[in-house]
Amino acid sequence: MNDSQIKNWLLATDKDQQNLFKKACSVKEKTFGKRVWFRGIIEFSNICQNNCLYCGIRKGNKKQERFKMSPDEILSCLKFIDKADYGSVVYQSGEMTSNSFKNYLLEIVRLAHQNFPNLGITISCGEQDFEFLKALKEAGATRYLLRIETSNPKLYAKLHPAEMSWEKRFQCLKDLQKLDYQVGTGVMIGLPDQTIEDLINDLHFFVENKFDMFGIGPYVIHEDTPLSNDSEVQRWWHKNKSRNFNLSLNFLAVLRILQPNANIAAATACDVLSPLGRMKVLQIAGNVIMPSVTPQNYRNKYLLYENKPCIDENAEKCFYCLNQKIVRAGLRPIFGEQGNSPFFYQRKNV
Ligand code: SF4
Repeated sequence: MNDSQIKNWLLATDKDQQNLFKKACSVKEKTFGKRVWFRGIIEFSNICQNNCLYCGIRKGNKKQERFKMSPDEILSCLKFIDKADYGSVVYQSGEMTSNSFKNYLLEIVRLAHQNFPNLGITISCGEQDFEFLKALKEAGATRYLLRIETSNPKLYAKLHPAEMSWEKRFQCLKDLQKLDYQVGTGVMIGLPDQTIEDLINDLHFFVENKFDMFGIGPYVIHEDTPLSNDSEVQRWWHKNKSRNFNLSLNFLAVLRILQPNANIAAATACDVLSPLGRMKVLQIAGNVIMPSVTPQNYRNKYLLYENKPCIDENAEKCFYCLNQKIVRAGLRPIFGEQGNSPFFYQRKNV
């Protein structure tokens, strides 16, 4: 597919957009049918050593009260995931590289693996060194999500403090592949200063680097961050909500056409821009959803962006609500399966 075709698709509206969605959906259904797999996500700590300019739990946000769940609290969440038969867990937190954090993360990975050996375990805890990623794999983790955020190092540098490096992040993704993880990445769509060419390059970057899973959503502002302190950015963002939602859907549709067998998750941020945003993604391109299993008392402390949905819900309500929505969207919830990425097995020739 050449760049001008991709550009036309990314900018498609009305009938052209409907045709794009139909094409993506038929590609998706060839591999996945109407099936949707679950990953119960536990956002176990909002303590982060980084200062990404767009993120509500960045270290510099002094208004943010911090928490870290105890292993007992995590075990209760795992029991819920087991009862709900979600098949997979995602451990997500801010990025920490201290030894105490590493030991704690190893402990909770073992907790999941030893008590629920059939559970797929995904980690989403930022950049970590090779040896630690290896130890996590040996402890039972099989998948890792690390969003590159943008494939353009110059745009990355505008969104992150100088001590964070695009090259280091990319190296971490390579390390994960070397360690035989199923590797997931993603970008934000609708960032200030992001161009259509950036998005086209993001798509090429995904294909060239053979990623197995994707978590991609629209950029959503958070008022306690440097990026949205700029009133120009705030005005621009509010004015372009619908454009950015459509751009996100088009991007995911093109990605599905380019990567027919990769897992694509419907990101929660899609629901901020449209009430049934995640369902729309699943109808067009996605095959994975990540219901929150985080206890209710922590949910409003894990706000990477504003107006995050489901913060007044508990795990049980999310279970029923999402199931109903999936069925109403004409899709089929799948329980008791890990739902690994078929692209991973293709890539490994297994
Ligand atoms: S995006 Fe991740 S690494 Fe960056 S500040 Fe937020 S939690 Fe920390």
